[in-house]
Amino acid sequence: MNSIPSQPSCADGLESGALPVDIAKKKILEAIDPVSGNEVLPVAEALHRILEKSVTSALDVPGHTNAAVDGFAVSGCDLPARGHVKAFRIIGQALAGKPYKDPVGNDQTVSIMTGAVLPAGADTVLMQEQVERQGNRILVSDQHRRGENVRRAGEDIRRGQVAVEKGRYLLPPDLGLIASLGCLEITVKRRIRVALLSTGNEILSAGAPHEPGKIYDSNRFSLIGALHKLPVDIIDYGILRDDPVHLQKTFEEASKRCDAIISSGGVSVGEADFTRQVLGNIGEIEFWKVAIKPGRPLAFGKIGDACLFGLPGNPVAVLVTFYQFVLPALFKLAGANQAPLTPTLPARVLQPLRKKPGRTEFQRGILTPTSDGHWEVKPTGKQGSGILTSMTRANCFIILEQARGRVQQGDWVQVLPFSVLM
Ligand code: AMP
Ligand code: MG
Repeated sequence: MNSIPSQPSCADGLESGALPVDIAKKKILEAIDPVSGNEVLPVAEALHRILEKSVTSALDVPGHTNAAVDGFAVSGCDLPARGHVKAFRIIGQALAGKPYKDPVGNDQTVSIMTGAVLPAGADTVLMQEQVERQGNRILVSDQHRRGENVRRAGEDIRRGQVAVEKGRYLLPPDLGLIASLGCLEITVKRRIRVALLSTGNEILSAGAPHEPGKIYDSNRFSLIGALHKLPVDIIDYGILRDDPVHLQKTFEEASKRCDAIISSGGVSVGEADFTRQVLGNIGEIEFWKVAIKPGRPLAFGKIGDACLFGLPGNPVAVLVTFYQFVLPALFKLAGANQAPLTPTLPARVLQPLRKKPGRTEFQRGILTPTSDGHWEVKPTGKQGSGILTSMTRANCFIILEQARGRVQQGDWVQVLPFSVLM
């Protein structure tokens, strides 16, 4: 015998059974149903929550036709003809919150401030800077058009119209808009309960005395940070030993209490890797290998109604797989009708990148703008999946498609800025 048949490992290219990233994402999303259960919250506390009941406007917004600038309100029919200049007499003043009560007649104008209700007879506001004031009159040129600088009642939202839809992940302008309708409280989905746990006999809790051969847990902390934009309650199960009985008990308990479980470590084929086995015992495994680097061993399945994301142990792989698979899934679980967009940018690489066809790779890069309005990117040195500084020094993922091979200097790649995700 002159060779040893090798087993599939994370050193291989594409191997049978590894799902392409897009298919794995799709399978996860298909397996997830939004949670039920609502709560009523003050609008000011509803940032990053999911709206459960569409907000319908009881008002026109704006509620009245008003001035968009400081200036003079006139009737559009009364504007001067081409080649003429015309004088209007100032008969009063309209302030925001203090309207002018009488109608504006021909050759008359009312001085008006931004936001003030347009007086009867007026449908046009001439910008202060575009007229000439002479005592109690203004001179107006032929440069104006009827209806200018006016915000019409209901032009933003009409009474009875849906202003914010059910399933919306609420962002700052949503809160402002809802408040502009006079609403104080809204109905949102309850937070999803997410169990977090790290596995490994070598993993120590920060604060514990250091021991030779052991490492401090980083994954739970990265994940706590990565969850912050989601409406979650985190139930922290801490660090679990590589003990299938203990792991099984914890998974069972967490699956009854939580909507999702996120574990890290113990998911590959080593002698101390029990996540998959336990998931197989008490739940259903959907898959456990994805054509992604880092992060190929990734178990996804269900235990009762809870979904389990068995992430790999390596700290970079944890974050890569979290953002690719877990984040969109949790948005769906939380009831969002859409996860926030994660747009990528084209960038030119400043140095060659090693890559073999077979897996989608998420290398870590430093993205900088060029003087001609493009982007360029270079990798952050060593790309091992355990090298967390490859992420802390980076500001983006360089996404290299599954079929792609080595990348030459000057080639274009797609990058995903961390600011989009984190
Ligand atoms: P595993 O998949 O359990 O074999 O873990 C793969 C690698 O990730 C090992 O080197 C582990 O020591 C490391 N690792 C696992 N869990 C953690 C954690 N919570 N924090 C930091 N490193 C971890
Ligand atoms: Mg382990």
